[in-house]
Amino acid sequence: MNAIVGFSTFLNDPLLIQEKREHFSDIITQSCNQLLSIIDDLVAIATIETGQVKIQEREINLNSILKLLHEQFNLKAQTQNVLLGFKTTLSDLEANIRTDETKVTEVLSNLLNNALKFTRQGYVNFGCHIKDNFLEFYVDDNGIGIPPEMHDEIFERFRQVEVSTSRKFGGSGLGLSISKAYIELLCGKIWLSSEPDKGSVFYFTIPYKPIVKDISPENQKNNQPAIVFEGNPTILVAEDEDSNYMLLKEFLADLKINMIRAVNGIEAVEICKSNPHIDLILMDIKMPDMDGYEATKRIREFRPDLPIIAQTAYTSQSDKNKVLEYGCNDFISKPIQKDLLLSKIKEQLAH
Ligand code: ADP
Repeated sequence: MNAIVGFSTFLNDPLLIQEKREHFSDIITQSCNQLLSIIDDLVAIATIETGQVKIQEREINLNSILKLLHEQFNLKAQTQNVLLGFKTTLSDLEANIRTDETKVTEVLSNLLNNALKFTRQGYVNFGCHIKDNFLEFYVDDNGIGIPPEMHDEIFERFRQVEVSTSRKFGGSGLGLSISKAYIELLCGKIWLSSEPDKGSVFYFTIPYKPIVKDISPENQKNNQPAIVFEGNPTILVAEDEDSNYMLLKEFLADLKINMIRAVNGIEAVEICKSNPHIDLILMDIKMPDMDGYEATKRIREFRPDLPIIAQTAYTSQSDKNKVLEYGCNDFISKPIQKDLLLSKIKEQLAH
């Protein structure tokens, strides 16, 4: 917060040279992201403590999720000379499961973030296999490791291995306690094996709930997506704020994408009705006149298969679930990260 307030004041100085301006703005962005992640963690802990966390299971393909996580974290790994690998022993058919995607993704993201944070160079490998009706996940690194006496303690709130480490590496000491709470809610277990200076492997399990899909040719024909993508996809961006729209336009500028804008939910519904060539919607939730929930609900009446990714401001777990309940296929939280946005769009357009 100190860095955000302090450096923001410098930006107004007309005499500030461009190089410094860029550097300060990078510091502000980084500090905002850190602050947001602390707020995220604190709200998650409060929600867990008050017993408000609910399990929301839906059908997902686990292999796609692992692949997406690999794409998301690979950039970070490359910049710090760490080789990031992932492995799944599940076939794509076996990987069709029912689970709470948000929580599993959050736990994996947290373990991957930690593994990359505490590994200066070398490798981080993650993956999943089936073991006795459970899915067993692992995140393995050759980083600084954790002394045995801390193996239980680090799952408690605000616990970090040592103060000097926390200063060097940052973080709030909440990620593992949140992960543990989520995994226990999902009826699984989380544990680790680790040795100082050698590395750590974090494991967790969740019940394996496969979905047996009918893959007969006839069924496949029926399941063909209603929209066939030929040429450049058309994306409708429902966004009332000009600056947010400009940012999205910038993010998507290099891709061969046609962008159409709606400034509220009513316009989004109307544009969608009159334009059958829209391939995907980036739907802001908080908009004047008609919000993104209502617009999604109405669009679903005539375009049930159209991929809709909700863009949400800072959201609680129940808000995220609400977005999915109203019919969005996925969501992305603001501030939007370009790589995450692109991989989510790619995933939805591939369906
Ligand atoms: P944070 O990472 O924000 O400090 P966590 O609850 O995720 O909070 O982790 C608690 C502590 O456990 C970390 O501060 C660190 O000391 C230790 N830790 C977690 N993962 C690793 C890892 N992969 N390698 C070394 N230490 C780790």
